[in-house]
Amino acid sequence: MNTGLYTDPIFLQHDTGDHPENAGRLDAISSTLRGNGMLGRLQVKQSQVASAEDIERIHTRDHVRRVEEAALSGMRYLGTPDCVLSHETYLVAQHAAGAVVQAASEVAQGRLDNAFVACRPPGHHAEANRALGFCYFNNVAIAAAFLTDALGYQRVLIFDFDVHHGNGTQHAFDARRDVFYCSVHQHPRTCYPGTGYAEERGAGDGLGFTLNAPVLPYATDADYLALFDGTLLPAFMEYKPDFILLSAGFDAHRDDPLALVNLTQVGFDHMARGMKRLSLDCCQGRLVSVLEGGYNYARLSECVTSHLEILQADPA
Ligand SMILES: [Zn+2]
Repeated sequence: MNTGLYTDPIFLQHDTGDHPENAGRLDAISSTLRGNGMLGRLQVKQSQVASAEDIERIHTRDHVRRVEEAALSGMRYLGTPDCVLSHETYLVAQHAAGAVVQAASEVAQGRLDNAFVACRPPGHHAEANRALGFCYFNNVAIAAAFLTDALGYQRVLIFDFDVHHGNGTQHAFDARRDVFYCSVHQHPRTCYPGTGYAEERGAGDGLGFTLNAPVLPYATDADYLALFDGTLLPAFMEYKPDFILLSAGFDAHRDDPLALVNLTQVGFDHMARGMKRLSLDCCQGRLVSVLEGGYNYARLSECVTSHLEILQADPA
């Protein structure tokens, strides 16, 4: 299939020093994809900055200004020491959001069948008015709002398999049924950010369109497979999405330093294959996958390679 890979040297310029979310993550992915020949099989695309209109569908103008002013004024972090700043952080965060919107737009127009966005900083913890958990702008939420509000999609499914709950994305669409947010993550009693209980199901018009599937520490591939096949995929099939976004974090890997879930590539690949099949069955393959976490460089690079092979493979 015609799969796009959005990546950009500018993503390396958000300089976080020895913080776990650093430029080495994307360096490792890029050199692995060059080394194993995967790059030659993809449409490699660079990013543009997201427009203010696109970002402000999700974030307050005050928040956007705060990120800009804090980065440019030389502040070391924003709000919490988790959110390290460098002079380029605002520009890079605009590019990350921009790349995800571009990927969604190109897939919507049929210029790409599907796409993976290897961007940083990640996005799913960023709230409307607050940077949190290494995240400044919520890339996936911005793309979902672009698809619904600008392009008229009516059933956008976000599946977030990062080991941490995507609090920001959930809150952006709590009360909406045109965006279904589903997250599988380490149980909030045992893991950052402390949200994502199964009881959180949305509100008002959006009640029933948030699905949280917390797993206990040390959950395995078998646990994820049972949950994905038995509960999540049937809910997705019932929703019949017209566009699919993945918050693709690879920090549930058993070798990842930031959490306690024991997933391997087998589990990640199973979910990717299931989502790819769902996209072909429900929405002509329209799927954009966006990098969130993943902090063991070697495992992250292997998992991303395999994820891309699955997205790119022709349907059987
Ligand atoms: Zn994470």
